[in-house]
Amino acid sequence: MMDILVVLENKSGSIHRMSLEAISGAQQIGEECGLSVGILALGENASALAADASQYSVEEVLYLENENLNSYTADGYSAAVAQVISAENPHYVFFGHTYQIRDYVPRISAKLKRPFLNDVVSYTVDGGKPTFYKQSFNSKLVSELQTSGDGPVLVSFQSAAYSSENIQNGSASTRSVNVDLDASVIKTTPEEPFQKEAGGVDLSKADLIVSIGRGIGKEENIPLVQELAKVIGAELASSRPVVDSGWLPSHHQVGSSGQTVAPKLYLALGISGAIQHVVGMKGSKNIVVINKDPDAPLFEIADYGVVGDILEIIPKLTEALNG
Ligand SMILES: Cc1cc2nc3c(=O)[nH]c(=O)nc-3n(C[C@H](O)[C@H](O)[C@H](O)COP(=O)(O)OP(=O)(O)OC[C@H]3O[C@@H](n4cnc5c(N)ncnc54)[C@H](O)[C@@H]3O)c2cc1C
Repeated sequence: MMDILVVLENKSGSIHRMSLEAISGAQQIGEECGLSVGILALGENASALAADASQYSVEEVLYLENENLNSYTADGYSAAVAQVISAENPHYVFFGHTYQIRDYVPRISAKLKRPFLNDVVSYTVDGGKPTFYKQSFNSKLVSELQTSGDGPVLVSFQSAAYSSENIQNGSASTRSVNVDLDASVIKTTPEEPFQKEAGGVDLSKADLIVSIGRGIGKEENIPLVQELAKVIGAELASSRPVVDSGWLPSHHQVGSSGQTVAPKLYLALGISGAIQHVVGMKGSKNIVVINKDPDAPLFEIADYGVVGDILEIIPKLTEALNG
């Protein structure tokens, strides 16, 4: 029996990055609160995923294979995970806050009539019990979340709330679990999984990134920043509005629905600092922000900040660095 159960997302046969972050968070919280940690892998080849996960320092890794779970459906996954939770009865069930988790975990919450604390960014411990925190109202407020009763309590962690680099390795046993899942429970027909755009840039490996936001103004200004990126040998990245406007292809997007990056230098030009962008770049070693608004939230995590107009600064910077 484990106190915290981390449910993995199966990403084409490997463990989703945000599930690894959830394991890391579970290990930290478990250590501070004296709670044991277990893991659940489900879906096609869950046993292989469980074998991968058994290298981490946790009590036990469960795996659930069932032909009705080979393709993801919210109906199947919510029914199956709810049954495992009822059988194992952990205090907490942790997830990474992925799109899949947002899709099916609210159904588990409704089925089991237990709270779902979603998009959590941090915690504190008082008397061996964690209090969770999440950002609200476009990051202007931080909510403090506590629950009463024994649990189970469902908790999902925002991208990069914990680092997978801090996972402690160990050697866990694995155990097969079963559920009663009739095909008639599944009312939806899954389509082919979404494929990443071909030819995309892997920004996660870039050392230098020049990233632009809506402050670039219009598509015609993109060559200005492409020139700057070329001069310093950097990859070009962007916030979501730049992609939504069709000024750059989607593989340039950094953030919760884009790529997560950790370059030596992240030069952010005309980006305000919304949380969905910040989660994708806050691990950068040096963050340089240029924005005409001195109150832009991104300045709060900047190592260096310049208040000014990027349309004036970019050409001068390119010229200076080229010289
Ligand atoms: C579910 C969901 C997922 C999302 N995923 C992502 C994601 O993955 N990545 C992402 O980036 N966003 C994402 N977003 C959108 C996010 O909430 C913000 O809307 C977005 O990050 C804002 O982009 P921005 O900073 O470029 O634009 P804005 O917030 O409009 O900021 C533009 C900034 O440019 C500055 N500026 C304007 N002109 C100039 C100038 N000439 N010189 C200097 N500064 C100037 C302004 O002062 C302002 O600070 C997501 C939103 C949701 C709801």
